[in-house]
Amino acid sequence: MKDIPYKIYLSEHEMPKNWYNLRADMKNKPAPLLNPGTLQPITAPELSGVFCEELVAQELDDTTPFFEIPEEIRNFYKMYRPSPLVRAYCLEEKLGTPAKIYYKFEGNNTSGSHKLNSAIAQAYYAKKQGLKGVTTETGAGQWGTALSMACSYFELDCKVYMVKVSYDQKPFRREVMRVYGASVTPSPSMETEVGKKILSEHPGTTGSLGCAISEAVEKAITSEGYRYVLGSVLNQVLLHQSVIGLETKAALDKYDIQPDIVIGCAGGGSNLGGLIAPFMGEKLRGEKDYRIIAVEPASCPSFTRGKFAYDFCDTGMVCPLAKMYTLGCDFIPAPNHAGGLRYHGMSTTLSQLYHDGLMEAVSVPQTAVFEAAEQFARVEGILPAPESSHAIRVAIDEAMKCKETGEEKTIVFGLTGTGYFDMVAYEKFHDGLMEDYVPTDAELAESFAKLPKV
Ligand SMILES: *Cc1c(COP(=O)(O)O)cnc(C)c1O
Repeated sequence: MKDIPYKIYLSEHEMPKNWYNLRADMKNKPAPLLNPGTLQPITAPELSGVFCEELVAQELDDTTPFFEIPEEIRNFYKMYRPSPLVRAYCLEEKLGTPAKIYYKFEGNNTSGSHKLNSAIAQAYYAKKQGLKGVTTETGAGQWGTALSMACSYFELDCKVYMVKVSYDQKPFRREVMRVYGASVTPSPSMETEVGKKILSEHPGTTGSLGCAISEAVEKAITSEGYRYVLGSVLNQVLLHQSVIGLETKAALDKYDIQPDIVIGCAGGGSNLGGLIAPFMGEKLRGEKDYRIIAVEPASCPSFTRGKFAYDFCDTGMVCPLAKMYTLGCDFIPAPNHAGGLRYHGMSTTLSQLYHDGLMEAVSVPQTAVFEAAEQFARVEGILPAPESSHAIRVAIDEAMKCKETGEEKTIVFGLTGTGYFDMVAYEKFHDGLMEDYVPTDAELAESFAKLPKV
């Protein structure tokens, strides 16, 4: 008899009505964004040329703990939320571990990931402000797909700059975006000044998120009635993604379950920031304690090998500077199949929490990630995204430690999405052609030397 169901669902009525702003409970607030021209803390009027007004207010608010989720957004959420919290009984049995493993599955929508949670919020505020459309970048394509879906729902134009390597490797994602009416341009492109500059300096580059961001920002600020939206890193995105953690906590509370360890993969930090939000809140308020682990690729190790410093969020240096764990905005990571984790920086909120010793981070090589992905797929029935599989890897590792020690720890991890569009990566793995590229200290030092002197 299993007293905890395989899937813990919440009813529609139990879904969160507010997002939770973790910053409100932080003693050491994340350092402010700086204006790239003056190097002074950026103001709301300066930011509102780039972002929608309500989103600027959310971005800069370090004190309000709860933001009401507008009814239009809650109704959209109801199409694919609440997402299930699954007890991984089958995986536990296969591993022979006494650990209890749960995962929050965010792949139950066409975009295939958690990114729709913020995309719909950002599209809503753009529409409310009367804009014509938005621009953005996408790495592996999940964010672009999510934003296309959100924009088509609110009848907004959507211009997506897609990192070239993914544009070429993932034609199916591109076509999904076009189904939803978005225009998709490979980045770097000749459509923007910054794209032209990057192409002349790095001919043949496969692109990077940092460079696609610069292009999308330039397009937004030079096009009337457009603003830029970003799918990760920013405080506003973490705020929207708190719906993941709030649902997780509500589901666990229903059965009086206390997690010992909460694990998530970290690209720019939005799913992790969202998943851990209510747990970290309790930790910050001194009510509970949890181990919280960020997992990143060894090829793009912002937390574990980066510097905690002010840096540009984009390669073209048009965006504000953020104080974060960074590999340097010029760092172009080796092609890695977890495209969504190939970003040089990290959320300022998570960076501060990590700096203050409130969470841990580990980096993992990609072949080990795909081994875990396959082990999971074979017993839990879900084909995971490579990004999500970083969290699976560490969840399995922690469960195996429990097997050695006999501890019955409760592990919760974020399963951010599905991997149906990542079959080229799985193919490389099966054919033994996957490489575990790890940047050398010298490469990183070269990139750190170019950090802005602030
Ligand atoms: C984008 C993405 C990530 C990483 O982004 P974060 O902002 O760090 O959450 C993780 N998993 C999936 C499936 C993604 O699409």
